[in-house]
Amino acid sequence: MSLQNPVFIPGPTNIPEAIRKACDMPTIDHRSPMFAKILHPAIDGVRQVMKADGAEIFIFPASGTGGWETAISNTLSPGDKVLAARNGMFSHKWINMCRQFGLEVIQVDGPWGEGLPVSRFEEILAADTAGEIKAVLATHNETATGVVSDVGGLRKAMDAAGHDALLLVDGVSSIGSMDFRFNEWKVDVAVTGSQKGFMLAVGLAITAFSEKAVAASKTAKLPRSFFSIDDMRANYKINGYPYTPAVGLLNGLKYATEMLLEEGLDEVFARHARIAEGVRAATFAWGMKPFAATPDLYSNTVTAVRTPDGFDASTIVAHAVETYGMAFGTGLGDVAGKVFRIGHLGMLTDAMALSGIAVAEMCMADLGLDITLGSGVAAAQSVYRHGNHSIMAAA
Ligand SMILES: *Cc1c(COP(=O)(O)O)cnc(C)c1O
Repeated sequence: MSLQNPVFIPGPTNIPEAIRKACDMPTIDHRSPMFAKILHPAIDGVRQVMKADGAEIFIFPASGTGGWETAISNTLSPGDKVLAARNGMFSHKWINMCRQFGLEVIQVDGPWGEGLPVSRFEEILAADTAGEIKAVLATHNETATGVVSDVGGLRKAMDAAGHDALLLVDGVSSIGSMDFRFNEWKVDVAVTGSQKGFMLAVGLAITAFSEKAVAASKTAKLPRSFFSIDDMRANYKINGYPYTPAVGLLNGLKYATEMLLEEGLDEVFARHARIAEGVRAATFAWGMKPFAATPDLYSNTVTAVRTPDGFDASTIVAHAVETYGMAFGTGLGDVAGKVFRIGHLGMLTDAMALSGIAVAEMCMADLGLDITLGSGVAAAQSVYRHGNHSIMAAA
């Protein structure tokens, strides 16, 4: 791998130079007023990016997985029923964690490449007249398959079923790069990590809790210690942490939220939509398809490119690193060998995306796939030059 090339793994993402510098700080006293000037703006910035006015934000030194644990351990009790769909590696892993915590998971198995089965969820919730289901888990963007799910639609289905389960959402590979409407969707807990849309190194689990989720935490009995939101809240009040905070990362997070808000959230989301569309245009130009089953499921932060049957997609990833020093994502779990992933979340420009598309097609040509060099690049260029959205309709 080359340190000069952008990465196209779907997290960690490329880190803007200014954010790297913001993380590189001398030691300060993390119980001093100086820390308060980092902590509170970072929290406020996260709240704005998630459109979560009024929500409580808790940021732990951990990765996104720690955010999953924060969400369930603070809101649920042993034996509680939760409803979840398994449609990719990340939803699969969150379900496993729930079982390890002694929750009873009602698991809806969908084909990978599909989104959340919203109408199936509605049926299950409507049938649960006793209100035994305490939480619905949703992976907003399945990073393994490049599938975005309709969280707003899920909220409507929950309301239509008249069910008051908590809505816990994994927004790890969407928040900061794709629109996430915590309040409008009435999300109860949202989870992300610092190394995806916030463009930082790994090291922070970033969560938002609704009033309802905070109320649930008062009676929730799952054990929690490190990830206790009560301990975190108590310490935020005195401008500190229950333990030593990751000060440099928090300073970087403060800066990252400023960058996103300065660019404008709508502009950030439009940039990711445009870049993603170029990547998909390239995919079609190669005679391939995104793994996501239908266009409404196409993710704007990662494209899982379905390679021809009988071809091992992971060889593209290995070849790209060895030959061109560029990193792409391999297929995970059920789709190992069937797809390779082009991550396009976090800090990325059209020009950077073109370099990834160019290298991907060199790799595929090198490995004997029937690829016309420049075909994907030209298709993406057309999108990036003209913002030409009709290209997808033609594909
Ligand atoms: C990356 C990712 C995670 C896991 O985050 P870690 O920081 O690796 O613990 C969870 N969910 C989704 C959708 C992700 O993309």
